[in-house]
Amino acid sequence: MLRESPYPMVSVSEATALIMAHVQPLRSEEIDALTALGRVLASDVVSPEDIPDVPKSAMDGYALRAADGLAPRRIVGELTAGGTATVAIAPGEATRIMTGAPMPIGADAMIPVELTEERDGMLYIQRELKPGDYVHSVGQDVRRGQMVLAAGTALGAAEIGLLATLGITRIAAYRQPRVAVLATGDEVVEPGSERPGGAVRDSNRYALMAAIREAGCIPISLGIARDDIDVQRQAILQGLDQADVLITSGGVSMGTRDLIKPLLAELGTVHFGRIAFKPGKPTTFATIGDKLVFGLPGYPVSSLVSFEVFVRPALRALQGDATPFRPQIEVTLAEPVRPSPDRPEYQRIIVRYQEGRLLAVTTGSQSSSRLLSLRGANGLLLVPAGETTYPAGSTLPALLTGQLLL
Ligand code: AMP
Ligand code: MG
Repeated sequence: MLRESPYPMVSVSEATALIMAHVQPLRSEEIDALTALGRVLASDVVSPEDIPDVPKSAMDGYALRAADGLAPRRIVGELTAGGTATVAIAPGEATRIMTGAPMPIGADAMIPVELTEERDGMLYIQRELKPGDYVHSVGQDVRRGQMVLAAGTALGAAEIGLLATLGITRIAAYRQPRVAVLATGDEVVEPGSERPGGAVRDSNRYALMAAIREAGCIPISLGIARDDIDVQRQAILQGLDQADVLITSGGVSMGTRDLIKPLLAELGTVHFGRIAFKPGKPTTFATIGDKLVFGLPGYPVSSLVSFEVFVRPALRALQGDATPFRPQIEVTLAEPVRPSPDRPEYQRIIVRYQEGRLLAVTTGSQSSSRLLSLRGANGLLLVPAGETTYPAGSTLPALLTGQLLL
């Protein structure tokens, strides 16, 4: 009889559901708002004031009363942005006014300088104005009490600018998950050290730590553990002490030195140990107490693709992101694509917007040891299991994992 893993095979969607069922956003903390790029808001932000707070001139020109019609006005002063004097104008009067300066009392419109003439202290206009013309009115940009940012929003440049506009310098943000990474394998060595023949440089730990940072989390390196159950137990426990999430690389297959699954079962609960998924079938998910543990495969591509598909959404959800998943799009194949007969395959692709369509080419050989199949990829093509090649021109769903190319 063929030897099979004792772990039942779950589908990608079952695996995702099992993971997400164990994710609770971490608690929030108060942080400086204006340097919080990438952090996720833990509470709604409501504007404490109207922007602008007083009526202001939208252009350089003259503030006046619309009711005076086309009659020439006597110019009684000049108002600049940042000026504090509150000036009043009477019927038949106008002031020079610069963009952003508060409107004088009594004025209800302004006229841009391009539409005027000024001679001997008098203003001449050719165009009738309505009250409010060229005036930036109170609350026109933001109303007091308006909800401007919802909890679950990740802060980008525009959001940070908005907080600065409103004078909000402290915000509640979800804590950033601390994510520990442990490489395993007797053949695995530090990239900078001497490499004995046949040894493999540890690319997974560095790639995963970079991916963890990109996902908004704080990576912690646990180094490389030998294929020894006591060494690995020790390293896992040490990782759980410092982190919210632990990721291991290697040691989850069917080899006699693949010790991670039994160790996780000993220390906690394994929720799945096998996924109908390529590359990354032995990807394992466990919880130990309230900590999440992902056992990722050793092959570099399997490790990083499994991270992208299963771990990244969990890391985004842990920090309260309201949209933790990558966007799913539909792409047109620029070349034929052969499915894997027994498992849905996530092929690495480069997606371009061309002639009104999203066109996908694969990154070449999809072997799980070939990190070059991930280089430059901005998408994962979801190829269902099957025997029949998808011809060029057919469409398939894909996850957009990077920036769309032109
Ligand atoms: P394993 O899943 O432990 O059997 O590992 C499968 C293969 O992945 C190994 O033979 C190595 O070639 C490779 N591998 C394991 N760990 C790493 C790592 N940290 N970095 C790069 N390659 C690795
Ligand atoms: Mg190994």
